[in-house]
Amino acid sequence: MVVPAKVEAHNHLHGVWVPACAGTAQAVKRILMIDLNETHDPKRASWIDSANAPGCDFPIQNLPFGIFRPPVGEPRGGVAIGDRVLDVAAMADFLNGLSARAAADCKAPHLNRMMELGPHAWSALRRDLSRLLSTESSDWRHRIEPHLTPMADAELFRPIDVPNFTDFYASVFHATNAGRMFRPDNPLMPNYKYVPVAYHSRASSVRVSGTPVVRPKGQIKPGDAPAPFYAPCRALDYELELGIVVGVRSELGTPVPVGSAGNSIFGFCLLNDWSARDIQAWEYQPLGPFLGKNFATTISPWIVTSEALAPYHTQAYRRPEGDPAPLPYLTDSADQERGGIAIELSAYILTAKMREQGLEPFRLSHSPFATIYWTVAQMIAHHTSNGCNLEIGDLLGSGTVSGPDKSGWGSLLELSARGREPIELPSGETRGFIEDGDEIVFRGRCEREGLARIGFGECRGVVLPAN
Ligand code: CA
Repeated sequence: MVVPAKVEAHNHLHGVWVPACAGTAQAVKRILMIDLNETHDPKRASWIDSANAPGCDFPIQNLPFGIFRPPVGEPRGGVAIGDRVLDVAAMADFLNGLSARAAADCKAPHLNRMMELGPHAWSALRRDLSRLLSTESSDWRHRIEPHLTPMADAELFRPIDVPNFTDFYASVFHATNAGRMFRPDNPLMPNYKYVPVAYHSRASSVRVSGTPVVRPKGQIKPGDAPAPFYAPCRALDYELELGIVVGVRSELGTPVPVGSAGNSIFGFCLLNDWSARDIQAWEYQPLGPFLGKNFATTISPWIVTSEALAPYHTQAYRRPEGDPAPLPYLTDSADQERGGIAIELSAYILTAKMREQGLEPFRLSHSPFATIYWTVAQMIAHHTSNGCNLEIGDLLGSGTVSGPDKSGWGSLLELSARGREPIELPSGETRGFIEDGDEIVFRGRCEREGLARIGFGECRGVVLPAN
């Protein structure tokens, strides 16, 4: 038997892909400003047929990382490809150099060790995995196939060890909608257009998709009640957010400049910032969210890497005439030109009755992430502007992603006008807020003419009655 040679270390100048059908010359120019390579080539196909199916979230151009357990063995790092999960550490023997080391570091119950190696290692590993899984390497199939697990048989875990979780508030449409309910005359605080506002949330209760959420109990004080009482939340909500995973630590005392902040990001996931609106309304002044938020946060199991998302960058949200310009430490021309990301996020609900009736999840909203007021780089630059340090695995939430009109509002608080205008569901039920047995499902995808469609998979959570 001839043993195939190891995959050669990749030459970064080799195989630069030029999009053939990306529309206007301007669009091509804009795409080429970003560092694309053969892993983004829409013509590249995989010898795993399911990865080539139209509408698949995980084509060979995506290759998101997660933690999975095959039917036999311990949790370990994997990459989603079609309807399979590739055991990445098992690929180390086929690879060389930094790429082999990164693959070997995936033999862990979280991705933090691999992230520690830095962006060059992530990129080298991505290029080699892309090549191994491509039709160009079909003759490797018999060696790789034993290390593929059907996704249906894989148990998925929280992909990262999360030292810190910060939740931003970066959608001006959400901030305006939410603010109007609590402060009708003054919905947007005077600092909003200057400060990428956030609060420090709770890392200990971040869970992977599929983990049930127990309805929290807390202090509630309805407007007409003379005093608060302790009871199960009556206004449980979701928040449709994008999660940002930090992959490069920063030093205490050293701000990360906005122009290079994007290099700190390993990747992105879907994030549900479950919110108890009644607990929140009573507790939030003067120090902000606390027990109304920290009982649960759900993230999707697959981290779509920054590199996979490179072709979907677009211009940052254009501030309307009359809005102040961001302060200089939040301003970078390249970030303004391509700091937005064209991700479509959707939220769905599946009630217990809908499950009994065999109905599909009902779409509540779909929001374009590119309408977010602050770019991800501005969030990171601001977070570190006082010298606060970021750690590997830190999770940043974008804040609820709401688009300009109701079809894109990313929470029930907004969609049902704080429960006053309940939403009608195909089962004949209505919802102002989430009831026990309801499951909330998020999906996300990127599509652009001339490029492969990539997706985020799902972020799901079913609500159980209070203990
Ligand atoms: Ca939030």
